[in-house]
Amino acid sequence: MDNLVNILYIVAFALFIYGLMGLTGPKTAVRGNWIAAVGMGIAVVATLIAVRDTGNWILIVAGLVVGVALGVPPAKYTKMTAMPQLVAAFNGVGGGTVALIAWAEFIDTTGFSAFKHGEEPTVHIIVGSLFAAIIGSISFWGSLIAFGKLQEILPGKPIGVGKLQQPLNLLLLIVSVAAAVVIGVRASDGGAPWWWMVLLLIAAGILGLMVVLPIGGADMPVVISLLNALTGLSAAAAGLALNNTAMIVAGMIVGASGTILTNLMAKAMNRSIPAIVAGGFGGGGTAPGASGGEQKQAKATSAADAAIQMAYANQVIVVPGYGMAVAQAQHAVKEMAALLEAKGVEVKYAIHPVAGRMPGHMNVLLAEAEVSYDAMKEMDDVNGEFNRTDVALVIGANDVTNPAAREDKASPIYGMPVLNVDQARSVIVLKRSMNSGFAGIDNPLFYADHTSMLFGDAKKSVGAVTEELKAL
Ligand code: NDP
Repeated sequence: MDNLVNILYIVAFALFIYGLMGLTGPKTAVRGNWIAAVGMGIAVVATLIAVRDTGNWILIVAGLVVGVALGVPPAKYTKMTAMPQLVAAFNGVGGGTVALIAWAEFIDTTGFSAFKHGEEPTVHIIVGSLFAAIIGSISFWGSLIAFGKLQEILPGKPIGVGKLQQPLNLLLLIVSVAAAVVIGVRASDGGAPWWWMVLLLIAAGILGLMVVLPIGGADMPVVISLLNALTGLSAAAAGLALNNTAMIVAGMIVGASGTILTNLMAKAMNRSIPAIVAGGFGGGGTAPGASGGEQKQAKATSAADAAIQMAYANQVIVVPGYGMAVAQAQHAVKEMAALLEAKGVEVKYAIHPVAGRMPGHMNVLLAEAEVSYDAMKEMDDVNGEFNRTDVALVIGANDVTNPAAREDKASPIYGMPVLNVDQARSVIVLKRSMNSGFAGIDNPLFYADHTSMLFGDAKKSVGAVTEELKAL
């Protein structure tokens, strides 16, 4: 039976890795997800076989029922635009589980104080479960705050205690590590009293809260990815303590992929990870229209004007953003583009790596509307083309087009690479109002002389432009 369990685990790892490979492209992503899910199913079955004689089956079945009941509805019904919150919540649950495993392992091996019913714990159990307890607890509480901020239950702006922040965080880290050292050292000496473990979990939990609270909304995606990587590492550590290879491998895969994603996202936003963790970015903002101190007016346009401009263009670059996702305008956009192409206009799509609310958000939506992959251009490939483009059609994008990121050293997003939309001969922006985007800051692009605003829901506006194009 042990051999069977190990074989099933190896099959599960292979499927995890194969599934992850599928996630590298939109064409294969859905299949990749299914493959990894089958791998996870096999790992669960293998674990159930492994604990067939020792597990408490009532608790196991109750856990499975509760898990399925809580996990399936949000996974099925959460809107694409709320995915970051869902990832934060699921990630938090993972971190919390790992911290609970560490707690259970502690009770099991030390019987709360002395080794009442356990054997003397080995070094890998001690180190693994203590590491898992600290990181799992940080990740659980940190993810809860990230969820609250993204769901707008908590204010998106940084919340901190000013200069005391860093010393306080350091103190909490020292307390957690010191408690871990005491537990570790006393493990072979009768075991530390239970409250050392409680102290460790509480100190690490407060550290998780204190680290994420001062981080502003704009950095939240990177933070979620970072917490995800940490949860992976803590799961691997718990796997070490439980001597469970599936947890070690799956945890390391999550840790490694989460770290790579965190780096890529931080790079796309030109932010360093230490600067993000130090906090304070992305919550403030200037009032709309207040850039440069002078009150500027944006120009409104009509669907008919927009249609005429584009119909007589050589090249139109569509710049999709979060608003296209909210309006679910991708199919309408594809229909409009087909009409333009029929009139001999070249249509391309400029994809910013953090447009929307998750990596690859725009690619997924456009692929759903069967826009060809060749027409979707990554930021670095398309940025040189804007100055040769007649019309840049911005559909519900804001932050990713903000020239202040390039030009205004005082801007909170200064240094973030953006799409050079402002360099096109003419810019048409589709959005409902002059409201700011995710970073909460004004966008000078909207007040530029060559920019006009087509106000309204993106799907309705694109539909209206399409009708005008048909009439031309
Ligand atoms: P933004 O959030 O900057 O702007 C979106 C714009 O869409 C808003 O200004 C809004 O204006 C408009 N909008 C909303 N609903 C509609 C609608 N129904 N019809 C038309 N317009 C609409 O989006 P971007 O894509 O430009 O930038 C993404 C931002 O999100 C960046 O700051 C990024 O850092 C952040 N982020 C990215 C993640 C990722 O991984 N991709 C994850 C989480 C955050 P109005 O209200 O006036 O209509």
